[in-house]
Amino acid sequence: MDSLRFKALEIIQSRSYEKHKLDKIEISDIFGSLVFNEKAMRKYLAKDSFKGVKNAIESGEKISRKVADEVAGGMKSWAIERGATHYTHWFQPLTGTTAEKHDSFFELKDGDPIEGFSAGALVQQEPDASSFPSGGIRNTFEARGYTAWDPSSPAFLIRSNAGVTLCIPTIFVSYTGEALDYKAPLLKALNLIENASVNVCRYFDPKVNKVSPTLGIEQEYFLVDNAFNLARPDLMLTGRTIIGHAPAKGQQLEDHYFGSIPERVNAFMVDFENEAYRLGIPLRTRHNEVAPAQYECAPQFEEVNIAVDHNQLLMDMMQKVALRHELKCILHEKPFAGVNGSGKHCNWSMGTDTGVNLLSPGDTPSQNLQFLTFFINTIKAVYDHADLLRASIASASNDHRLGANEAPPAIISVFIGEQLTKVLDEVEKPSGKKSKADVNKVSNVDVPKIPELHLDNTDRNRTSPFAFTGNKFEFRAVGSSSNTSSAMIVLNTIVANQLVEFKKEVDALIKKKQPAEVAIMTVLRQYVKDAKKILFEGNNYGDEWMAEAKKRGLSNIKTSPEALDAYISKKTVKLFETNKILSHRELEARHEILLEMYMKQIQIESRMMGEVALSQILPCAIEYQNELLLNYGQLFDHGFALEADQSKEYIQRVSNHINLIRSNVFEMIEERRKANKIDDARKKAVAYCHKVRPYFEIIRYHIDKLEMYVDDKLWPIPKYREMLFMR
Ligand code: ADP
Ligand code: MG
Repeated sequence: MDSLRFKALEIIQSRSYEKHKLDKIEISDIFGSLVFNEKAMRKYLAKDSFKGVKNAIESGEKISRKVADEVAGGMKSWAIERGATHYTHWFQPLTGTTAEKHDSFFELKDGDPIEGFSAGALVQQEPDASSFPSGGIRNTFEARGYTAWDPSSPAFLIRSNAGVTLCIPTIFVSYTGEALDYKAPLLKALNLIENASVNVCRYFDPKVNKVSPTLGIEQEYFLVDNAFNLARPDLMLTGRTIIGHAPAKGQQLEDHYFGSIPERVNAFMVDFENEAYRLGIPLRTRHNEVAPAQYECAPQFEEVNIAVDHNQLLMDMMQKVALRHELKCILHEKPFAGVNGSGKHCNWSMGTDTGVNLLSPGDTPSQNLQFLTFFINTIKAVYDHADLLRASIASASNDHRLGANEAPPAIISVFIGEQLTKVLDEVEKPSGKKSKADVNKVSNVDVPKIPELHLDNTDRNRTSPFAFTGNKFEFRAVGSSSNTSSAMIVLNTIVANQLVEFKKEVDALIKKKQPAEVAIMTVLRQYVKDAKKILFEGNNYGDEWMAEAKKRGLSNIKTSPEALDAYISKKTVKLFETNKILSHRELEARHEILLEMYMKQIQIESRMMGEVALSQILPCAIEYQNELLLNYGQLFDHGFALEADQSKEYIQRVSNHINLIRSNVFEMIEERRKANKIDDARKKAVAYCHKVRPYFEIIRYHIDKLEMYVDDKLWPIPKYREMLFMR
């Protein structure tokens, strides 16, 4: 029987892409058509209810039951007119993905079918939640968990061939009120930073009434033909390839980045983008990324809560739409060894209701005290809580990027560029002279007909985990498959907490009769002194930086089980408890869940490795070994002694790899057995990380060697060169 690899190759060769001709669509016509947005609400709600919802969105006021009832009615009519038969609370449990449980509008009332949807159903639901991770907060006997409506993120419709479902974004909490999801603490953190920044803004502009943190998420992903995915059990089950020899050509020619987009891929992009526009996701860019078969898309930035929801929705949708094109959209951080992995750059800033981007330096940053305040406070917050930020992006899959010599290292540092480095130097040691840093950057390109260019006041440093890029910070260490809430809860909480501290210190100085500007500058100067160790402008991948960072006392935590410790450190517990974002118990629970998820992911990969090695690779290698042995015998029998000797050497090499694969798989299984006996979640995760996981590389090494030796016709698993260079 042909292996799935050859079936896949055959299928792919016979594919025709004619059917992907898409209708021509005006984006502005379809944008938001599946969203119960302001426009829809105006049409479907009475004036008072509309105002109630708007107040809730803008100032966090609670919605009354009466208003909720009307909203439910309006939402139902809107949804049913668009073909919806079911509704679901859409929430974000700590698994990192999204969850939904559909209920029909249809119900029987006195034996008659009606379509109902009450305020109760809109505002809260009680999914049987006992199977979601709760880290011991909820024993199964008190399994109740509640989802509760988040009016600040609009409801939307998900369409499939089978029908239309109304999705209502919700938080997810336990019976005792503890958060079991990402959204609940995120909303708290956002509320905190909104208040803290308004208070600080008022030093500069008393007219500011609202500040919203903003987020633009760049999403990287890989695309391979789905037939390959179906022929690679490792990819299907773990999201990455755990074996596979590097192709002769990888990314060394740098010919994929920003290259011409293959037509088949372009058809997929247009298709999912149109779907995204209907859902109100404002996608703006698409391009080829560095690795072969790697791509990126990015929307225009939005308020954080919306941006996070949109990214969760986008990830889900990209995977679904890909299947329509017989493609597999891979969001894993490191699906292929030897080429770049995928990240999710989180561009973050804060904007006021007066239209000011608080991280925009303007032409004269040294004179822009408001900018300096928010800029320096952010740097100070990152310095003080670098370990917590590291923890917020820790996962088994992201460890492949952070620990390895690839896009940002596990050391958290901040890049600010040459000009702002000068500005901070001047803040620290004022010379009294006019700043040398404030030069208007205009460049005359010496090419005929080409207009003058305006340059950003920061250069670029692709290797930095946390880089200032013109008018925003870009947190680059976030993993491509993660829920960005995790990083956003931490970032917004630490900056908010910092701004509160800052205000206290400044107010104390003002009370001592210092002019406000002097007081602000005094405190900022101290912060620059305290935090400048976190600033790094050089190459983050270099060994010199590892040594330098160590000297500076910055952490370099390469693996998740240890990185996650920061979630339950005294400092973190104090930070989250004083700001009422997460309680000690909730943090402990989260810590345990994340450790458990880590452990399970490595466990699944380890089982997969054993299965593929023993049941797919070894049989084909042994078959080849037998062929070689036959050949050896024939050579010998026919008097080719010298050639037989060479053949023997070759057989020895192949046999050696076969034996080592077998013995290492059994040793790995033994380590897994030992690790499984451990009760303590952290110790167990550590054992999986440092006792089980190291076998992956060893076993893989021998399998990948065999891939080079064994007859191509026998090899059962699609090869990298086949998967990565699809047109
Ligand atoms: P690049 O970083 O590749 O130069 P862009 O400048 O287009 O790309 O920005 C990347 C992302 O940053 C986009 O999603 C963009 O909307 C977002 N962004 C731009 N300004 C802000 C801001 N003030 N706050 C948050 N995100 C922003
Ligand atoms: Mg960017």
